[in-house]
Amino acid sequence: MSDNHLPTAELQALDAAHHMHPFTDSAELARKGARIITSAKGVWLTDSDGEVILDAMAGLWCVNIGYGRQELVDVAARQMLQLPFYNTFFQTSTVPAIMLAKRLAELAPGDLNHVFFNGSGSDSNDTNLRMVRHYWAAKGQPERSIVISRWNGYHGSTMGAASLGGMKGMHAQGGLPIPGIVHIDQPDWWSEGGDMTPEDFGLERARQLETKILELGADKVAAFIAEPVQGAGGVIVPPVTYWPEIQRICKQYGILLIADEVITGFGRTGNWFGCQTMGFTPDIMTCAKGITSGYIPLGASIVSDEIFNTLDAADEFAHGYTYAGHPVACAVALENLRLLDEDGIVERAGSEIAPYLKEKWESLTDHPLVGEAKIVGLMGSIALTPNKATRAKFASPTGTVGYYCRERCFANNLVMRHVGDRMIISPPLIITKAEIDILIDRARLSLDETLAYLNAEGLNVSA
Ligand SMILES: *Cc1c(COP(=O)(O)O)cnc(C)c1O
Repeated sequence: MSDNHLPTAELQALDAAHHMHPFTDSAELARKGARIITSAKGVWLTDSDGEVILDAMAGLWCVNIGYGRQELVDVAARQMLQLPFYNTFFQTSTVPAIMLAKRLAELAPGDLNHVFFNGSGSDSNDTNLRMVRHYWAAKGQPERSIVISRWNGYHGSTMGAASLGGMKGMHAQGGLPIPGIVHIDQPDWWSEGGDMTPEDFGLERARQLETKILELGADKVAAFIAEPVQGAGGVIVPPVTYWPEIQRICKQYGILLIADEVITGFGRTGNWFGCQTMGFTPDIMTCAKGITSGYIPLGASIVSDEIFNTLDAADEFAHGYTYAGHPVACAVALENLRLLDEDGIVERAGSEIAPYLKEKWESLTDHPLVGEAKIVGLMGSIALTPNKATRAKFASPTGTVGYYCRERCFANNLVMRHVGDRMIISPPLIITKAEIDILIDRARLSLDETLAYLNAEGLNVSA
């Protein structure tokens, strides 16, 4: 398939001329030329030059089932022929939307039994933001409208979702955050934990939520939103003390807890949902990405009986997207969930692949550049540092070393992302042990090349 297109240089020139990329320095990309991915199978990508690349990021954290599953293609084709679209606004419904909602209610923990469909993770979080405010208004407490979230959290790119997120670079563009959203600090022990033990630090960061609630007044706070494990922030795995304390605080003050499971859902952490792995039960879950393994866009907000019943008794929720419950997307999601379940993919990821990957991933800490290795299920990160003992940052601007390492990985046909000076992975759940060995070999080679470069350039120094 890699020869059935224009030459790479021509594609790159057209890409630079007409295609605007998200989160990309377009001038730099135009200089280098995009790497153009033309096909994929399992965990392997093929580019327009015929190079074969190990995708340790599952696309963008989403291709949980791996590339090239014919079953998903067949279901999409059949559904498009039978009913490519119908809306769910005006007292109509479709079979795929009904069956997917039922399946999600079965899989979701606790009494999360009701599904509002959206088009993506971002607009699922916009739905959640409006829904929790509508919920409190319906309960006669409209002043309960503030949502608390975290610095360096990621919840998407729409006005609402980017405001819920805690990415300062995103807030700096377009006048964000919108009013009524307040941030507390993240549980990143490696870079912010100082002299505390991880356990004490986890408690301290969780109790910032309590402090913030008391400062604002509990009667003003609608909800707290967080990722069970931060993804885009650098795969920050919170200390074990963190989530139980967050749950306690939300319960004590009657604050709704929203788990943004866009990455952590559908097997990523070794269970169906990240909240199960981290030991808490939310009132709302945000889903997208792995829900369809990225084969087609879909988002969902899964909510508790209490929220549903309250909204059910209130005025209609004046909110919805044209493609809510899109029949083709829902049919593909259903088939994806069936395969993740019946092929034992989620089960095997948790019981067999995750422990193997953990052992290999943590072995990277013997490399001179690697300070800590964190991993939960099939999402992991390593912190690069010039001095492990002091957990030092590099003297170069944050991300310089990480970007260099990422470039070495890409040159060595491994997709491993960097967030600042952390390197992160999130491979398809179907990755084999042999493929994990290749991943680790290529990561080591890239780390060696990075270290050699830093030493040669005098950059392996602490800030
Ligand atoms: C990717 C992501 C989103 C946004 O999803 P989109 O489909 O890109 O809009 C929201 N939350 C988390 C945790 C994500 O990782």
